[in-house]
Amino acid sequence: EFGDTAAQREVRENDRQYVFHSWSAQGQINPLPIAKGEGVRMWDYDGNEYLDFSSQLVNLNLGHQHPGLVKAIQEQAGRLATIQPALANDVRGELAKRIVEHSFEGARSVFFTNGGADAIEYAVRLARQSTGKRKILTRYRSYHGSTGTAITMTGEPRRWANDVIDGEVCHFFGPYAYRSAFWAETPEQETERALKHLEEQIILEGASTIAAVVLESVTGTNGVLVPPPGYLAGVRDICDRHGILMICDEVMVGFGRTGEWFAYQGFDVTPDLVTFAKGVNSGYVPLGGVVISEKIHNAFEDRSFPGGLTYSGHPLACAAGVATFDIFEEEGIIERVRDLGSRVVEPRLKEFLEKHPSVGEYRGKGLFWALELVTDRETREPLVPFNASGEAAAPFNAVVAACKQAGLWPFAAGNRLQIAPPLIISEEDLIKGLDIIDEALTVADSYYTG
Ligand code: PLP
Repeated sequence: EFGDTAAQREVRENDRQYVFHSWSAQGQINPLPIAKGEGVRMWDYDGNEYLDFSSQLVNLNLGHQHPGLVKAIQEQAGRLATIQPALANDVRGELAKRIVEHSFEGARSVFFTNGGADAIEYAVRLARQSTGKRKILTRYRSYHGSTGTAITMTGEPRRWANDVIDGEVCHFFGPYAYRSAFWAETPEQETERALKHLEEQIILEGASTIAAVVLESVTGTNGVLVPPPGYLAGVRDICDRHGILMICDEVMVGFGRTGEWFAYQGFDVTPDLVTFAKGVNSGYVPLGGVVISEKIHNAFEDRSFPGGLTYSGHPLACAAGVATFDIFEEEGIIERVRDLGSRVVEPRLKEFLEKHPSVGEYRGKGLFWALELVTDRETREPLVPFNASGEAAAPFNAVVAACKQAGLWPFAAGNRLQIAPPLIISEEDLIKGLDIIDEALTVADSYYTG
């Protein structure tokens, strides 16, 4: 009940006393107790309402308490709540079939995991085991998860304290036109030079030692970096010429986020392995997995695959996954993401660029966008330094606080306000959220010095 201060106090006390939180100094956090979630909104115990422009951790694609997902889980729980992975199960098989049917040509099967990081672990293991090679190339400005190899593959500060668990991972630079590592002045130059850099790295590392190149089809937390024209196809070509597998990490962008079932489908490439999680069932029950090509699948036709998880293909999670496909079709989710992204979000962000000096660039696709906040458009000085904390992060924190104050829960990352609402959001709510961001950007403008 809203206003139930005793209940709120108990939630807070139990949390502070007993819950050890991710990525945090335990004594310096005060997590907000949440009383309720419905659709695109959540409420705290005081009844304050937040419009969720972050889809929790960019997983709540169908919003809170979607009746179709709740019903599928309830029915499955009443029928068969769990079954071990060595046995065959109806919803597990049905979900694998639906995923393969919506995947690349030559996709053959699915290995299910408990989430995104272990999807990455298993994609890498499949690549290493099937090629007999060990090395993995991944990009800076990437996040691939927090388990052993996945955190080593991550190309941002969350890796630093965990360096280096898997010594057979190396990082390369991907395209990022706004802050080009290649002194490029056009997207075409960025593509050409980024590809040349990757190929040179492959030659120097030795193609015979490299199992796979792994990349987020559209980089998520590290900036909604949409690959420039020709980049992903160019990576595919390089991989083919050097006998290296291409793995697309679709954990954040899979299942509709960019207006495609899988983001790579918007770039006309065929990967060898694809990781997914989050959007597969909106996180109602933990689930992830790897889509496996025919060729890699066949490598384990007569040889045992060395790997497994007790909860691989958990029926409650898979039932919610099957329901996700039904809901996507019934509610025309892919079409509405494309429509809302191009008709409502993009023009409004263009307006922000014209109106707010602190907006250095906007970029994105579907219902996945970033506003890059700067203090100077000429120098592109970010609103706060890379990996800022404490006082140094204050200007960006003030923008985030303004959003929350006005009832919007933003997806904040570095110097970027990122936009990733549930895909079921109404046009009215989308505009409401963009109005709040518009207002919060005046706070960012107040730090502008250019
Ligand atoms: N890969 C990408 C692209 C992600 O964004 C994430 C999580 O944000 C992961 C992997 C790890 O997923 P999980 O947190 O489910 O382990």
